[in-house]
Amino acid sequence: MPEGPVYLDYHATTPCDPAVLEAMLPWFSMDFGNASSRQHAFGWKAAEAVKRAREQVASLVDASPDEIIFTSGATESVNLAVKGAAEMLGQKGRHIITVQTEHSAVLDTCTRLERSGFEVTRLGVDEQGAINSDELAASIRADTILVAVMMANNETGVMQDVSAISAITRAKGVWFFTDATQAVGKIPVSVQSPDVDLMAFSAHKIYGPKGTGALYIRRRDPRVRLMPLIDGGGHERGLRSGTLNVPGIVGFGEAARLAARRLPTDMPLIESLRDRFEASVGALEEVYINGRGGNRLPTVSNISFRYTEGQALLAAVTKKLAVSAGSACASESLEPSHVLTAMGLGRDLAFASLRFSLGRLTTPEDMDRAYRILSESLASVRKGSPSWDLYKKGLLGEAPEWSL
Ligand SMILES: *Cc1c(COP(=O)(O)O)cnc(C)c1O
Repeated sequence: MPEGPVYLDYHATTPCDPAVLEAMLPWFSMDFGNASSRQHAFGWKAAEAVKRAREQVASLVDASPDEIIFTSGATESVNLAVKGAAEMLGQKGRHIITVQTEHSAVLDTCTRLERSGFEVTRLGVDEQGAINSDELAASIRADTILVAVMMANNETGVMQDVSAISAITRAKGVWFFTDATQAVGKIPVSVQSPDVDLMAFSAHKIYGPKGTGALYIRRRDPRVRLMPLIDGGGHERGLRSGTLNVPGIVGFGEAARLAARRLPTDMPLIESLRDRFEASVGALEEVYINGRGGNRLPTVSNISFRYTEGQALLAAVTKKLAVSAGSACASESLEPSHVLTAMGLGRDLAFASLRFSLGRLTTPEDMDRAYRILSESLASVRKGSPSWDLYKKGLLGEAPEWSL
């Protein structure tokens, strides 16, 4: 029975919904106009389509359309938010606060700013992946210009308490940027409650096309102003020059419309598949589900396997399961996940961790198969593992290097 691997990597990307693809197609060929051609019907038609998509995307996050800037994806949106705020407010202050478990788009952007004289505080997290709001409040200084905390983590699904963060940043008059790339489409997200000032998200994580994203920029109370990263024809109110990707934007709009409609029915189903999977896997020996004790997205299960060779486990499952070890961006390097180590996992345990992320097309059969493949692979990898052998013989105490 020639079957492909089970796709359980929806946090890395999602397939385009057929309705999204359908909506995009005419804008590649028949309706190819440039949305900024103001002099003729080709341009008007494209501009009309972009306007509609902007309304659809804005509506998904409770923003007004004039607060949405289209970009090439969440990475660009993050760069625009953080660097754009830094350049705009650099005279006022040069201190930024973020978190150790952010996506590399945020962390690497902050590191870049450090090289040009900004100071960055990277808050730690507890064992469940959450920051401490008192610590955040205490870290804000007179020269703090931005707090960047993600809404939901891509590796673990752990959600930060954005209401508490927003209350603190509001009280201190500091802009709050949140990377909501994983949250949007999976939980209801509104930029009004709690108030956020800047928010990044992406089409390809919500069954839209790759290469299209958005940045929400608050226009009232307060009016948030950024310096652009890209100069040119003044598109997107001067914040993102360059001819608009009309097919991508139309697809993003349709994906946003579908996401809002499907969320209430899709998410409970996905969550029940995830929970059933975790109940089975959790019954295996020496298995830890990361972030399970906190608030998590319904779509993901991040699991660590103690006394297990991480590389061997990944190699054993990789042909049959499309899952991720750590984050997709980190899996090329041989560093353990920065998210898991920030949560206090030792290097070995962080290495022996897999992320299973579920989506719209995941079936109960997929999850049964995933469990079977995982439990068989785990057993065979552990059979050849010296540390598992020692553990089974009772020769491993609570050695600190294995500690959670
Ligand atoms: C996927 C992801 C990104 C990057 O999004 P792109 O659109 O691929 O650039 C940023 N942040 C988080 C949390 C993500 O999951």
